[in-house]
Amino acid sequence: MSEPRRKRARIGGGPIEKYNGAVQQAIVSFGPERLVEEATAFAIGNGIVMFEQDNQAIHCPFGLVPFPVPASAFGEMEKYGPLFGRLVDRISRSPDFINDTLKGAAETDPFTAQLLKILNTVEKEGNTQPLRLGLFRSDYMIHTTNDEGKTQHRPLQVENNTIAASFAGLSTAISSMHDFLFSRHLPSIKPTLPENKAIQNLAKGIAIAHKRIVTDDGNWVAIMVIQPGEKNAVDQRSLEYALWEGYRVPVVRASLADIESAGSLAVNGNLQYGNNNVSVVYFRAGYTPNDYKSQTEWDAVLKIERSSAIKCPSVAYHLAGTKKIQQQIALPGVLERFCDEKDASVLRECFAGLWGLEKDDEATKAIIKQAIENNDDYVLKPQREGGGNNFYHEEMANKLKEMSVSERSAYILMQKIKPTPVTAHLVMKGELKTGLCLSEFGLFATYLGDGKNELHNEMCGHLVRTKSVGVDEGGVASGFSCLSSAVLIDC
Ligand code: ADP
Ligand code: MG
Repeated sequence: MSEPRRKRARIGGGPIEKYNGAVQQAIVSFGPERLVEEATAFAIGNGIVMFEQDNQAIHCPFGLVPFPVPASAFGEMEKYGPLFGRLVDRISRSPDFINDTLKGAAETDPFTAQLLKILNTVEKEGNTQPLRLGLFRSDYMIHTTNDEGKTQHRPLQVENNTIAASFAGLSTAISSMHDFLFSRHLPSIKPTLPENKAIQNLAKGIAIAHKRIVTDDGNWVAIMVIQPGEKNAVDQRSLEYALWEGYRVPVVRASLADIESAGSLAVNGNLQYGNNNVSVVYFRAGYTPNDYKSQTEWDAVLKIERSSAIKCPSVAYHLAGTKKIQQQIALPGVLERFCDEKDASVLRECFAGLWGLEKDDEATKAIIKQAIENNDDYVLKPQREGGGNNFYHEEMANKLKEMSVSERSAYILMQKIKPTPVTAHLVMKGELKTGLCLSEFGLFATYLGDGKNELHNEMCGHLVRTKSVGVDEGGVASGFSCLSSAVLIDC
């Protein structure tokens, strides 16, 4: 590990445990089953639902009450959002840095190679749209340490999602559910619940971009690029509804294959889809190789990139959010190429230990040895998004032993963040499970820039994903964790 090992804190008896004890008592006096019934009815009634394999909608797995987080740690996470927005935009406008950082990964990972190829094609042709829009979600876990009796809660970044960051809709509704359950049914508890308008704020970001593009002639729509058979469509729909309700921006859902067949580039560079001009292309697909069944989908991405529509994200933003770039900017001096000193020193506070594996030098051999011998302290991550791809424990150790140096270029090694477990109440398919859990906090932010000016850069709201202790991965759709919201505790 690059940082000195410190003793992990026990929260026992502290403000979080105290708060949790009071909530537990309130739940018991109200009746856990009755509260689950109230919560489940709210969830179904307010669209906190996902589709299952058979296309039946069920309530998504959720935390019955919000997950406690030290107020200071939450404040820090909120502060990082706009800084990451600015950083991603600046990295995206440095294609040489992106190429240098990803060329090793691209040699063994065809997915990264294809994205780079599109980036370089468009860079060479000359980019037709300087405006770039990001709907980001930066994810953190709270690392708790206890140095000489002083407990510190420090959010460490898991990753910054620059493409298809999901759950703004469902988590906005979960925050409303928690507010309802406390104020209506558990009034003895007066929790500090941070305002959560994630979905309205993300819609605002798209609407601002849309307004910059539309002209009086023709019909203008925003496209939401979707995966066929999407199970999390309700979350996506809430963005569509917020865009219509708040701004009268029409959204058309289309897969990459649809765009390739019904989309065309006008002489003036406009992307046309059917009879519509396209203002913004918002991707909720395209982040995994599974979304590219054939060359057709890649052709669609190139067509979109070549157009004057505002991409959310552009391929450059997508690549700026990859794990290899995350690791590279954590190296001494790299962040400072893109940020002023003040922003860089703030951002560094949330960086966990990160290591590239592309070299075969002594330092790399040493960190690999360390990770193999202490396999609970590290996570091995490939250049992938969407959950379920990382390696942990024995599997990580074996993978580290068997990979060639060039294969290793498409992976990063990361310090395992170990938050202090807290008792939580999870509701899955109407069943309540109470036990020790960990949470991951996602902070949404939107960014619009033209390379010279920052036109919009705003924190948008939050998401909490809670999972039982011992579960390594974190996805909700993939069944690893439950959606929740945050309650702020003065620690
Ligand atoms: P993906 O792009 O697949 O979402 P992530 O980096 O978010 O990749 O990793 C997936 C999940 O694995 C996270 O949601 C988190 O639960 C867990 N995870 C990832 N990195 C770490 C880490 N450094 N420490 C602890 N858990 C981690
Ligand atoms: Mg993730």
